[in-house]
Amino acid sequence: MKVEILGSGGAATIPRPGCTCRVCTEGRARGLPYTRTGPSTFVHGPDILFDTPEEAKLQLDRAGLGRIAGCFYSHWHPDHTLGRRVWETRNADFRGWPPEAKRVTRTAIYLPQQVAADFRTYLGGREHLEFMAARGWIDVIELVDGESVDLDGYSITPFRLAEDYVYAFVVEGEGKRLLIAPDELNGWSPPVWVREVDLAVLPLGFCELDPFTGERRVHPAHPLIRVEATFEETLGIVRELGAGRTVLSHVEEMDELSFDDLLRLERKLADDGLWVTFAYDTMQVDV
Ligand SMILES: [Zn+2]
Ligand SMILES: [Zn+2]
Repeated sequence: MKVEILGSGGAATIPRPGCTCRVCTEGRARGLPYTRTGPSTFVHGPDILFDTPEEAKLQLDRAGLGRIAGCFYSHWHPDHTLGRRVWETRNADFRGWPPEAKRVTRTAIYLPQQVAADFRTYLGGREHLEFMAARGWIDVIELVDGESVDLDGYSITPFRLAEDYVYAFVVEGEGKRLLIAPDELNGWSPPVWVREVDLAVLPLGFCELDPFTGERRVHPAHPLIRVEATFEETLGIVRELGAGRTVLSHVEEMDELSFDDLLRLERKLADDGLWVTFAYDTMQVDV
């Protein structure tokens, strides 16, 4: 299998419109890998997509992706879902007539149990999916907890994180196991059955402290500290998980870490005995 990071950014991408900070300015001037689009990951082999941020259609085109066997949504948050109109842009035929002559592609959209429930509540998610399903561009498949999806000899198992409206996924095939956790590791400890996967893609978490100097970057009373995994907590999860290789993604603009900063951080962590790689848009990892 091959994992391709289509978008390595978080809820605020790089550059952020109107922002003149060091990281956004550098991104505007230099392009990839200094820019980051919203969180999305593709796994070649099973040919499955996880999440569609606003830039999804640009990401799919930039990656030159043909077949997409299915898209799994991890949770309802807008940074992971609001590019879902890509299924119209990609699959619809507005010119073909009569209807039976239309060249329509259909994509299977998989919603884990709570995601399906939350799409009915938030952001018009269910209504929008039904709009696209009625026109034949997608098929919506609701999963129940504990259910795995088998696709061409690969199996994909969604499971709830500690923030239990959010799912991570174990992808198995070719004798390998991957863990794709798009966001929200707060309070999570990897269960035994998930440990020692060949590759894990995890969110970086937010930098309460400067990862180089340890200086406090966020007020200690900030409510985010209770609801988001910090970078330090994420490193604890990385150690506990013991994956063959770990890629940290979902890099928030507000953490003000540039591509070069993250390379430097990789070396610092390696010196401390922890091997992680930071994701960038278009990054590919063979498993
Ligand atoms: Zn997110
Ligand atoms: Zn900025």
